[in-house]
Parts: sequence; structure tokens; C-alpha cells
Amino acid sequence: MVTVDRAELNEAIRTTVMKAGLCDVHEHLLSRRQRADRDPGLLEWINSSYLWADLVSAGLDTTAFLDASTPFSQRWSALEEVLPAVRHTGYMEVCRRAWGDLCGMEGRHLDARSAGVVDAAIRQHNRDQAFSDAVLVGRCGVRRVLVDYQVGGTAVHFFGQTEERDWYRYLLCVRPKLSEGLIGKYTIVRELDLSYARPVVKIDSLFYGWLEAAASENHQLLGVDTSRARDLDGWSGIIETAVRQAAGNGAVGLKNAHNCCRSPVLGPVDRRAAETVLRSRVDQLSPAHIIAFENFVFHEVARCAAQYGLPLQIHTGTTYGAGGLSSARAGSAELLAEFIQSHPQTTFVLMHASWPYWGELEQMAKRYANLHLDLSWAFMLGPTEAIRMMQSMWTSLPASKLLWGGDCYYVEESYGALVQARRVVTEALARLMEMDQINEAEAIDLAVRLFCTNGLKVFPRAVKDARLHAANPPA
Ligand SMILES: [Zn+2]
Repeated sequence: MVTVDRAELNEAIRTTVMKAGLCDVHEHLLSRRQRADRDPGLLEWINSSYLWADLVSAGLDTTAFLDASTPFSQRWSALEEVLPAVRHTGYMEVCRRAWGDLCGMEGRHLDARSAGVVDAAIRQHNRDQAFSDAVLVGRCGVRRVLVDYQVGGTAVHFFGQTEERDWYRYLLCVRPKLSEGLIGKYTIVRELDLSYARPVVKIDSLFYGWLEAAASENHQLLGVDTSRARDLDGWSGIIETAVRQAAGNGAVGLKNAHNCCRSPVLGPVDRRAAETVLRSRVDQLSPAHIIAFENFVFHEVARCAAQYGLPLQIHTGTTYGAGGLSSARAGSAELLAEFIQSHPQTTFVLMHASWPYWGELEQMAKRYANLHLDLSWAFMLGPTEAIRMMQSMWTSLPASKLLWGGDCYYVEESYGALVQARRVVTEALARLMEMDQINEAEAIDLAVRLFCTNGLKVFPRAVKDARLHAANPPA
């Protein structure tokens, strides 16, 4: 049996990807101005990173940690209590690589001494206009990065969702009272200030656009007036307008994250129940009415996505953090199969490998020519399982199916995610080479497709020049 030198293969992949140009198909990166405004130190940076979920799971005293009015040393003590328990997780690996390579951390782990060094480096990056380019282009070889234009909308973990019924309770009882102040608080609009960044427009707010209280949100985010349409034909027009305008404003895809808060079962559409939502008072509605309306909206979105040539990204799999929907395998992608089958003209990009149900997704991608898999987040969630996943996917799926994204707020974490993904990919490819399934040239080709070429084929609009760097959402 041949033994593949991992370090050599990793370096060969790194240099080839740098040359070919990385296409990172999913990020939440803040613009430089937004980052400077937020001005995070290490502790705030951690609070916005994936590592946060591991720390909370390990029992972090979040009250002590988050209290910005207390001295750094006190907040650090809370962190120090749980750090040893998460030294070995995938989320920590991403941070370690970022802090080590970009923030001057010495040694393998964050400690009291290196925390100050990393904190100072992060604060310096907040002010350094050249930092994003130096990392994304200089170190990662980014050619294109697709950024979620809005974060939020379905972020009901802020409201403590654990079951699907909580989503409908939120829509019927909480959301109607939240007419103002959602944007900037729970829904954050991203500025795009990098020439290689392209927006993906989240259409989640259309799902609850029947609510009067959501009219200004839909106007600000999608440039549509949802306040008047009281029948489904009118609503079809609104959805088409939203999608057409998104395409006209330079969006390269659409995104939906409703799988975070409701079942992915989407049909058939009960039009009468859906229309009831538009013609009744909130206190006359039941979850069944709203589900019918959401299903109607999503089918219309999928239809319009095909019409305007925008791939549709859908969150699948686990939700983020301690809150979020956990019941009834809600994240399972297999439940989307009928929906995908009923829209053969739409390009679907299912995200996060439907973690941990990646095998279901793999089989679906085998069945549908219009289905691609964005593996962002999956490598971080379980890097060891991801090695097995990549071995399996690369021996069961066409090489054109798989895409990679970082899925991070801060550039440092995106960098760490890429370094980790390259390690996972290297290991999976090395094992396939050792099994004589592929040779080295084929291994490199698979890596380049994953990191570089597949993303640009699936999101062809991303290749075009940027048309939207705007600080403001389309109006
Ligand atoms: Zn994401």
C-alpha cells in the first residue's frame, strides 16, 4: 500500500487553490466599517464565533463572561474555567489556527498570557483597512466570496425556541408587537465593501410578510410593499417583484433559513388556508393557516428563483447554539425531497450537509441534477466525521456537486475554517489514494472543484462584476 505524505498533499492543494482562486460560497462577514463600529476584543469575537456554542455547552458562566462592565480579568476567569474542556473540538481548531497564524498566539492553546496578545491583535485588525484583503486574498486566494446580505429574520433562538410550535407562538403572539427595531437588532444587514464579495439575499421575511408588523422590514430588506396584498395572486406578484429586484441589484442567489424554526415539509399547498392568513385577524389564525402560507411562499420563491436564474440556498441540519429548534428531526434534508422534485428548473444548494444527517443528503444529491451541496459549517461541527463524509461523497457523487463555504462573521474565523477544511479534505483524499480509488492528480482535481470551480458554476452570476457594494439594502 502506498502511504501518502499528508503535509505534501496539503501544500499541493493549498498552492493549487491559491492559483485557481477560492470561491467561498457562504459567509456572514461584516464590512470593514461595520467591524470598526463594533470594535470587538477577543471576548466579543469569541461570542460571535462557533466556539461560543461549545463554551456554553461546557458550562460557561455566560453572565460573568458577557458583562462588559467588569474587568477583562474577571471575564477571562469565567472563560478559563471551561477552556480545557473544549481544547480539542472542531470549533476550537478553527480558532486555534486563526489565533496562531493571524493573531500572534504562541503555543497550542489560549492562556492568560496569549489572551492579551490575541485581544490586541483583534483590536488592531478592527482598524486595519488592509486586513481583509491580506487574509482573504493574500492567504486564502479568494476570487469570490458570497455573503449573506441579511443575518436574522428567522433567528428565533433569540426568543428561546426549542420546538416547532414556538415559531408559531412567536409569529402569533410576539412578532406582532415587534413592529420597530428589528433591523439592526435581530436582523443585521451586511455592507459589501470588498470587490470580490457578492450578495445572497435572504427571503425569510416574506414568509411572515402577512404580518402588518413585518411590512417595514420587507420594505427595507426586499423593497416590496406587503401591506396591501390580501390575496394569493397579489402575493405571487410581491414575491416575483422581490426576486426580480434582488437579481437586478446584483444578488447571485437567494437564501432561506426557515428550516431552523419549522419543519421542512413544504407541500402540497392548501391555498384556501394560505389565503385565510391574508384575510383574518391574527387572533383568528392557527399554526395550520400559517404553515399553509409559508408553504405557498416557498413554492413561489422556488419558481421565481428559476425564472430569474438565482440558485436557492436552504439551511439544513442542526441549528446554532443552545437555543434553536431541536424537535422532530426538523433539520433533516430528506424531508425537502418532494419540494426539490417539484421544482426541476430551480438550482438548489442545500447547506451544512444537513448535519448530522449527511447520508440522506448524499443520496438526494445522487438523485437530483438540480441539487448541490454547500458543505459550510459541516467540517467545523465534526471534523473527524467530515473526513468519513468526504470519502463517502467523493466516491458516490459526481465531482460537480460539492461546494465549500466558511460561514463566519470575522475574517480570522473564515481563515481558520479554510485551514481546517483543507486538513479534512487532505485526509479524506489521502485515504482514497491509499485505497487506490484515485491518484494524486485526481485528488487535486477534486479539491479544486470543491474549493474553486464548482461554486462559480453553480452561482454563475458571481463571476460577473460586482454591482452592489451598497451600504443600504435595495429600496
Ligand atoms: Zn450561515
